[in-house]
Amino acid sequence: MIQDVLILGGGTAGFFMAASLKTHHPSLRVQLVRSPGIGIIGVGEGSTPDLLNFIHGHLRIPPAEFYRAVKPSLKLGIKFLWGKEDYNFSFTSALRQRLGQSDMPIGFVCDEALTDVDLATSLMAQDKVFLRSPDGPWPRVQSIIGYHIENAELVAWLETLAAKLGVEVIDGDVATVEQAAGEVRALHLRDGQRLPADFFVDASGFRAELIGKALGTPFISYADSLFCDKAVVGGWERGAEPILPYTIAETMDAGWAWQIEHPTRINRGYVYSSKFITDAEAEAEFRRKNPKVGPTRIVPFVSGRYAHQWVGNVFALGNAAGFVEPLEATSLLCIANECRILTMAFREGGLRNNHTMREHADRYCGRLWDEIRDFLAVHYRFNKRLDTPFWRHCREHTALHGAQKIVDFYRENGPTFCVEVELLKPAQSIFQLQGFWLKLVAMGVPHARSERAGPALREEWVRTQAKNKAMAATGLTVAESLRCFHDPRWSWAAGFYKDEV
Ligand SMILES: Cc1cc2nc3c(=O)[nH]c(=O)nc-3n(C[C@H](O)[C@H](O)[C@H](O)COP(=O)(O)OP(=O)(O)OC[C@H]3O[C@@H](n4cnc5c(N)ncnc54)[C@H](O)[C@@H]3O)c2cc1C
Repeated sequence: MIQDVLILGGGTAGFFMAASLKTHHPSLRVQLVRSPGIGIIGVGEGSTPDLLNFIHGHLRIPPAEFYRAVKPSLKLGIKFLWGKEDYNFSFTSALRQRLGQSDMPIGFVCDEALTDVDLATSLMAQDKVFLRSPDGPWPRVQSIIGYHIENAELVAWLETLAAKLGVEVIDGDVATVEQAAGEVRALHLRDGQRLPADFFVDASGFRAELIGKALGTPFISYADSLFCDKAVVGGWERGAEPILPYTIAETMDAGWAWQIEHPTRINRGYVYSSKFITDAEAEAEFRRKNPKVGPTRIVPFVSGRYAHQWVGNVFALGNAAGFVEPLEATSLLCIANECRILTMAFREGGLRNNHTMREHADRYCGRLWDEIRDFLAVHYRFNKRLDTPFWRHCREHTALHGAQKIVDFYRENGPTFCVEVELLKPAQSIFQLQGFWLKLVAMGVPHARSERAGPALREEWVRTQAKNKAMAATGLTVAESLRCFHDPRWSWAAGFYKDEV
């Protein structure tokens, strides 16, 4: 029976796992070792609704406490300056809606801007985040939003949470890993301490000290789909700019740039391929488009994942398990899922490290990563905004892997859901078929059924869009909504966020 867990790494991944295990298994001894010298990555701020359900549902943290301590901002999705037209990609299932009394999905009549396809995209188009409550100046809060967070503030708060839950934090550098019979037995620190445990979590970031270096697990590269390998990051203190209710993803000459909104700061980063642009050229393009940016730094990365995340008595998560660029803000989503799966495996397996649980949990985690790779590949393959060498290369060479059959089906049949279960099993998918349809519609990928919706349905669609637009016009901005959440009269409904385990 597992009694002692040792987590290597004190970034988001390590502390979230510590909090998850201690919340659901209070009798476990959980230790966490981290190196103050190596520090944390300090990047990683856009998220999806999964993170909110994880923090407030799974970890049972009241939203009020989180808003006070971490000061997140709010996002409804991502505005893509991408494809022929800019488009709004919300977290809602916009393209699942049907046209009036017909059963035809609205993807058959949407234009590429994807504006006013539902309330969320209408709110995004008008820089609003929530509808206004009829009972006063309060937002009508809905749960399908994500946070923008400063990584350092999140980790600092997680450390106080871990202390409250009884996690023992040790500062030190792991020098060697003691192994026997294919399992890890103890970590040895540079200062001579030996830290034994029954079970180890590798949350050591890109260094992947246990899953990669010690255990030699093979690495599956995503380099045939995702060509970027560096980011130049920087930002500036917010002036008069309004807080936008979305992340921006903007096409750049040799990659793309994010813009992430915090109440007091704007963070930008240019993800690029070093085969197509030098660091100096990337930094110059980044500055040209963002004249307010302060000091910058360059972060190299490798896209891919380890072939296994759970090997013997080691479970890897976060950047130690895999990495893809934050085009869909998925790292925190993966961390939340990885914490849940191990915590649940411990519960259902009676705190025993059994073979079948390990095998299937490991496969689940790998599939999650691969679907993200497939989804991002679609972004690169069909973005026609720029005609630079990098983008020409992407359009010609991006491998679609699992998305190939989805794209083939779309080209012949358009954005229909009739064989969804076969194309992408909904219960196992992050983005869902509607996410893929939305990307293909937004980037103007042609299909053979473009004439399917007749003039009557198209007129009805225009009326629906006008309704969405009018409703959103009275909505609240992010700044107004945050003021409400910090108002002592505001309270959160009990059970607003659910634990999905
Ligand atoms: C350019 C870029 C942009 C990103 N943007 C986003 C985003 O918008 N949204 C998102 O969800 N994610 C984003 N990410 C991913 C983000 O980094 C992760 O979500 C998150 O911060 C997880 O980090 P981590 O805990 O795995 O690693 P880290 O923060 O690197 O933590 C690793 C920990 O391991 C410790 N450690 C390592 N080796 C040793 C050793 N030998 N001994 C002792 N301790 C050790 C370190 O001290 C540290 O505490 C981005 C990443 C990059 C590179």
